Amino acid sequence: MQISLVDLGIQYQNMKSEIDEAIASTLTQTAFIGGQRVVQFEEEFARYLGVDHVISCGNGTDSLEILLEVFGVGVGDEVLVPALSWISTSEVVATRGATPVFVDVDPDTYVMDPAQAEAKITERTKAIIPVHLYGHPADMPTLMDIARQHDLRVIEDCAQAHGATIEGRKIGTWGHAASFSFFPSKNLGCYGDGGAMVVPDEPLADQARMIARHGQKTRHDHRLHGRNSRLDALQAAILSVKLPYLEEWTELRIQHAQRYHELLKDVAEVQLPVTQPDCRHVFHVYVIRSPKRDELKEYLAEHGVQSIVHYPVALPFQACYDDLGLRPEDFPVSYQYQHEVLSLPMYPELTEEAIGQVADAVKQFYAR
Ligand SMILES: *Cc1c(COP(=O)(O)O)cnc(C)c1O
Repeated sequence: MQISLVDLGIQYQNMKSEIDEAIASTLTQTAFIGGQRVVQFEEEFARYLGVDHVISCGNGTDSLEILLEVFGVGVGDEVLVPALSWISTSEVVATRGATPVFVDVDPDTYVMDPAQAEAKITERTKAIIPVHLYGHPADMPTLMDIARQHDLRVIEDCAQAHGATIEGRKIGTWGHAASFSFFPSKNLGCYGDGGAMVVPDEPLADQARMIARHGQKTRHDHRLHGRNSRLDALQAAILSVKLPYLEEWTELRIQHAQRYHELLKDVAEVQLPVTQPDCRHVFHVYVIRSPKRDELKEYLAEHGVQSIVHYPVALPFQACYDDLGLRPEDFPVSYQYQHEVLSLPMYPELTEEAIGQVADAVKQFYAR
């Protein structure tokens, strides 16, 4: 059997009639931009998170960038970001004309190490963007303490962690603002691009909404220099169909992770994901570590198992940051892990049999 890393097709087939009906009715109503579908999804997602408002936008990258703008981050400022993440997290800092200051990650959970973050704070530091990487919550209680002491804004990057919690409280409700992506393969994904922002402070929330809507307060009244960043009605309709299933899907991801853990825990050469106490890890991806990563990946491919590396080059070592002159010895954990991490197949519809086949292939590789 061929086992792919993710399979969005099974999910669509399982809910085809509901999705097709939502798409067809949106088309019939010809309400493509804005309108009731978008408002409805914003309300539903706000209720899911337990916040007053959600502001939808074009994608997760836009949401991070708009939030930095709302907090006045610009030229001359520094923003702390983890060394291990998808490029969006640091890209948006540079787009604002500010400088990303990379922080190495915790060796067990892969999220930003708060102590190292604090050590990198300077007079120019304005904000921190913690990432709930792979679905594991960043250490928000500690980061918020640090932020309070140094008067910094905290923007949670929740792109990989819809529904994750710390002490039972959802991520996206800990920081001064939060960013979500609905890219198709995220834990809650649409069929194109989509994103959302959470901004508890009402005046700042108004500003974020205006920026995403051409700086408009009301139609033809442009109060500030805005842009166009919208979740379209088709995507909103699709997300409204999917949202009620998110909890069930998340529980399945957690069960799959437990199964992998049971099957692989005795393989001494492989490091399995760790979940901190009090945290709900939502396993956007299931990441293991092995010093023989590349050979293992090849072996798995030969045995019908697709795997992928998140991420083969940590952010400080990307060519676009060459001018910052960052060195591997300054980010030892991220540098080591870029050579060792491997994401195994993970999606809600994955079967027990498939997980067994993946685990067998991993075990066979080490038994050769
Ligand atoms: C996917 C992702 C984003 C941005 O998402 P887009 O919607 O593709 O712009 C941001 N941060 C992280 C960590 C992501 O994984």
